[in-house]
Amino acid sequence: MLTCITTFALIGIEPRRVDVEVDVRSGLPSFTIVGLGDRSVREARERVAAAIINSGLAFPSKRITVNLAPADLHKSGPGFDLAIACGVLVACGAINAVALDDTAVHGELALGGEVRAARGTLVVAEGARAAGLTRLLVAPDRVAEASLLDGVQGVAVPDLRALVAVLDGSRVGPPRAAVAPVRAAPELLPDLADVRGHPESLEAVTIAAAGSHNLLLTGPPGTGKTMLARRLPSILPDLAPDEALEVTRIASVSGLRTTDALLQTRPFRAPHHSISVAGMTGGGAVPRPGEITLAHHGVLFLDELSEFPRGTLEALRQPLEDGRVLVVRGQQAMLFPCRTMLVAATNPCPCGYGGTPRCRCTAVEHDRHARRLSGPLLDRIDLAVRVDRPSAAELRAPALRNSAAERDRVRIARERQAARLLGTGITCNGHMDAALMRQHLRLDAAADRRLTVVYERGLLSARGRHRVLRVARTVADLDASDTVSTGHLLSALSLREDTGSQEAAA
Ligand SMILES: [Zn+2]
Repeated sequence: MLTCITTFALIGIEPRRVDVEVDVRSGLPSFTIVGLGDRSVREARERVAAAIINSGLAFPSKRITVNLAPADLHKSGPGFDLAIACGVLVACGAINAVALDDTAVHGELALGGEVRAARGTLVVAEGARAAGLTRLLVAPDRVAEASLLDGVQGVAVPDLRALVAVLDGSRVGPPRAAVAPVRAAPELLPDLADVRGHPESLEAVTIAAAGSHNLLLTGPPGTGKTMLARRLPSILPDLAPDEALEVTRIASVSGLRTTDALLQTRPFRAPHHSISVAGMTGGGAVPRPGEITLAHHGVLFLDELSEFPRGTLEALRQPLEDGRVLVVRGQQAMLFPCRTMLVAATNPCPCGYGGTPRCRCTAVEHDRHARRLSGPLLDRIDLAVRVDRPSAAELRAPALRNSAAERDRVRIARERQAARLLGTGITCNGHMDAALMRQHLRLDAAADRRLTVVYERGLLSARGRHRVLRVARTVADLDASDTVSTGHLLSALSLREDTGSQEAAA
């Protein structure tokens, strides 16, 4: 007897339909799984057989062949266990095949027959919806995630006996929670009101958030660079519904957290500098998203930028530019999204106290440090500010900003940008290329003259000029102005720690 059960494989962060065909016929008892599964798929034999027997159900003493179709698709992970067990139970008559119409199954089996959660339930639910299926059988702690999409109902099956009961109708799956939370409650994020002093850095953080500009914070250790960066998510707008779905899907596939609701807060990722290139951009035998993809629609924070190996930073360049990263492993090539805002922090010199009387570094050491920094990523950075120790008076004074107010400024500035850039495929000034800038940037006459002077004195490269213009556009948006004035331009020039002061004075 031949049966066919529907489940889904995770290919990167996309679902691919897999039909689990089970053939049971007379012959010497055997249990074979074919269809390009990796070791964890082939080992499903042992788990499925033990689970069925230990659940007190009859395991057919026959010749069993399981085929995972399409046979040319690499399959990995234990998420196929439940579908294979389902197929065997249908084939030996414990379950009526009709009960599995409109139904997909996804889960791992324990030897005792309990169903365990498998990664990527939300992606499987997306696949089920696309395939026109309305029911998804999963482990109890994944029911909420399986029910996140309209049109697909997650059903909890704690173990194989419950599976049989649910499918023959003698037991109805526990009803979905009366009002399932569609979105997660907002997380409590660290607030800008914790920061004392730092007036320029605070403004730079708001500008960066408003225009999605990459930001570099330079300063001695312990001055608050990390503190500032970690407060960025608190002033970024909530994820839009389609963004929330993308971010939740990535979290689900990565097994980072169980997601009972669509995530609402933008991700903040701060990988250590010892991270591998694959860990940063994505990879592995079965390609998984890297840190840059986990930071999609959020913030990627690189603390101690100069400690990151050059190769790791080099690998970030193109993905940061394109908003997506191609991961090739063996015969598989996968495209992961990575539209993220880069924030980096660094000491000004090896000892960390460059620019203050405490610095004991030699000129050679300063040069070497500058060369390390000027490497691959610096021309991707729009804003660079110096973060120095706050004065004693500043530490005693009340906070200059709070996140609620800054968040409102950012939201209004982003709405202006989105309206202006409507139809271009981007929503933030930080993502404008040269063509879009020519189209959407209006300088008033005085600002135009000032920029020409600065540029002709050779104080700005062509690329640097673009960066200044993008930032000036965001400063104008925060000021609710349709044209960029000299004031906006000077603000943008002053937020480039390297050459800013000379340019502004020109
Ligand atoms: Zn030093």
